[in-house]
Amino acid sequence: MKKLISAALILTMVLALAACGSSKGGSDTGTATKGVLVMATNAEFPPYEYHEGDKIVGIDAEIAAAIAEKMGCELKIEDIAFDSIIPEVSSGKADIGLAGMTVTEDRKQSVDFSDSYASSSQVVIVTETSGISSLSDLDANSVIGVQTGTTGDIYCSDEFANIERYNKGMEAVQALSQGKIDAVVIDSEPAKVFVAETSGLKILDESYTDEQYAAAIRKGNTALLENVNKALSELKSDGTLDKIVAKYITAN
Ligand code: GLN
Repeated sequence: MKKLISAALILTMVLALAACGSSKGGSDTGTATKGVLVMATNAEFPPYEYHEGDKIVGIDAEIAAAIAEKMGCELKIEDIAFDSIIPEVSSGKADIGLAGMTVTEDRKQSVDFSDSYASSSQVVIVTETSGISSLSDLDANSVIGVQTGTTGDIYCSDEFANIERYNKGMEAVQALSQGKIDAVVIDSEPAKVFVAETSGLKILDESYTDEQYAAAIRKGNTALLENVNKALSELKSDGTLDKIVAKYITAN
């Protein structure tokens, strides 16, 4: 009986591995290593990815886990600097970059993007006492805090002279609450989390840009791109994606 169970177990494992590709570097799933989907992220971006104890949780972590499960792969998450994610994906060290990453024409030069799984916007955080009530109150003298390499950084660098760059969005928010900078430009959902955790801050009603999040995949890796898009479309139509989002974002 014991033998039978272990034979069944081995068979299940073999099937799971087969579903995730048959050979290293050339698997039909497009993952670099057989049986493993390596996701690069920057876990400083709640509610999309953040640390809870020694685990990385959040919307992207759960979407990636659901995609990996559909592909028959084990998910491995690598937590790295945001501006290292695209190099890591384009060099093939990671299979996908999932990091609340906005699709931009510029990034499309370096990586391919999956279908979008979320809409977002860049918003402006200011102190409640600042007197800044709209984007037009920011001027050439305003010091804007951003997270290095993000779309907030890219767009503000085009428009404003005084940019302070931080490794983590929360560090920019802390600098704002300490009066070191005048405003922070960052994605809307992390902005809500950071503002809720810090007293005396508010988000301007008017948003700075509208954006789409998608998974970054090595250029030309159509096998992986197709697998990820197929999984995403199933997760959208069977309600899993909505369920994951609802777990982390309460509708307002
Ligand atoms: N959406 C922004 C970007 O893609 C920020 C993402 C992040 O900080 N994780 O640049």
